[in-house]
Order: sequence, then structure tokens, then C-alpha cells
Amino acid sequence: LKVMLNEMSWVEAKRYFMKNDIAVVPVGSNEQHGPHNPLGTDHFIAREIAKRAAEQAGVVCLEVVPFGVSSHHRQFWGTVHVSARTLKKYMREVCLALNYYGVTKIVVVNGHGGNFAVLSELARDLRERGIFMAVFQWWHAAGELLPELFTRDERRHASAEETSVNLALRPKLVDMKKATDEKVPDHPTEGAGNTVPLDAVDFTKCGVYGKSTTASARKGRQVLGAVVTELARQIRVLKKMKMDDLTAKPRV
Ligand SMILES: [Zn+2]
Repeated sequence: LKVMLNEMSWVEAKRYFMKNDIAVVPVGSNEQHGPHNPLGTDHFIAREIAKRAAEQAGVVCLEVVPFGVSSHHRQFWGTVHVSARTLKKYMREVCLALNYYGVTKIVVVNGHGGNFAVLSELARDLRERGIFMAVFQWWHAAGELLPELFTRDERRHASAEETSVNLALRPKLVDMKKATDEKVPDHPTEGAGNTVPLDAVDFTKCGVYGKSTTASARKGRQVLGAVVTELARQIRVLKKMKMDDLTAKPRV
């Protein structure tokens, strides 16, 4: 079995979809990740985790959706963002296109926190249409599975954890000589229980939140190993489940 849908012929795709009702869809963003990481960090990582887990679980993986909801990084050059409404509509149409071939279970592997709100909204909408969509976020999984591997300051945007995964996947695209540690102070408008619409540039000069210089390929491989194994397990569980147990229940 080929794992990437875009590498299959339609005949191979038919063979897969006739027997399987599940697919993996990675989504990321194209946004600044400090002076040392590539703009594609979020979609490179999402694609690779999705592909490896799909391979382990024996299911098909789509090409990554590279643009996400990241206007809060736009002051840093090269950030290409779409609105929440656009991403939701786009992802919905991708899911419905898969549904035409009988896919009713979709695992979205999200590489960018800013996409989460619309993805979880979409998951609720789709459940009403008989499609069960799970949203997996690798950094949350890593925090739970490997709590000791990084400090809180190393687990933020473009900091050591993300940089480590980049070093494990695409070392040529990371320039550790430019890695920095930047203390990210609280903004005066921030306080307990509130949310304010601030941009990355309100906090950071170089684009890194926290500490990135402690990154290493070894730690990155550790994260990938743990996260891919867990995601593959979740996919296998979903693959086996009956749709009757996944669709929204009727009134009691
Ligand atoms: Zn990122």
C-alpha cells in the first residue's frame, strides 16, 4: 500500500477506499519561526508526523494543507495566512470530497495552534453529517508523553521543542548559529482569565518565544518517535470502530 494519496493512481485509490473509511489530513501554516527555522516549520512537521503514523496504521494520508490562520505573525516577512473562515470552508470541502468516496473518519494532524479553533468547530459540524473528525496536535501529545524532555520555556513558539523536531527532519533548513533565547514578557493588557488580540511582534523581536538554543536532533527524534507511535495507535482504534458508535446520538 502506498501511503500518500497523491502518489496513487485512481485505480489504487479505488481499491483503498472500497475497503477503508478513514484518511489522515495534515494541515499547517507558513509563518515565521524565528531567524533560525524555516517558514514551513508547522506544515513540514504536520506532514511528516501524519505520513509516518498513517504508514504504521496502514491508512492513506493526504498532502498537507500548507496555509493556516496565522495573521498574528504577519509583521515578520514571508508569513502567508488565510482567515479562519477560509480555512474552515476549505477543510470542510476537502473532507466532503473524501466523504464522496465513503470516508467517514478523518484524522486531522494539525501543526499550528492558530488553526485549532476552526478545526474543532468543523469537527462538530461534520459529526452532524455523519463524519467523525479527530484533531491531533503533536506538541500537546509530546507534553503529555514526554513531560520531562523540555521546560515550559522550551515548549513555546519556535523554541527548543519545535526547533529540535526541525533538526531531526530537515537539518539543512535550520541554522543553529542564529538560534536565540528571548524572554517573552507578559503584555500589560494580559491578566488572569483574559484573552487579548495581540500579535507575535507585540512580544518578541526575533520571533522566538522563550528558549531555542537548547534544541537538538536527538530530542527531536525522541519527540517524533513518541508522538508518531501514539498517533498511529489512535488511528488504529478509530479504524476499527463502527460508525454507529461514532455518530451523534439521538434525543434521549
Ligand atoms: Zn510552529
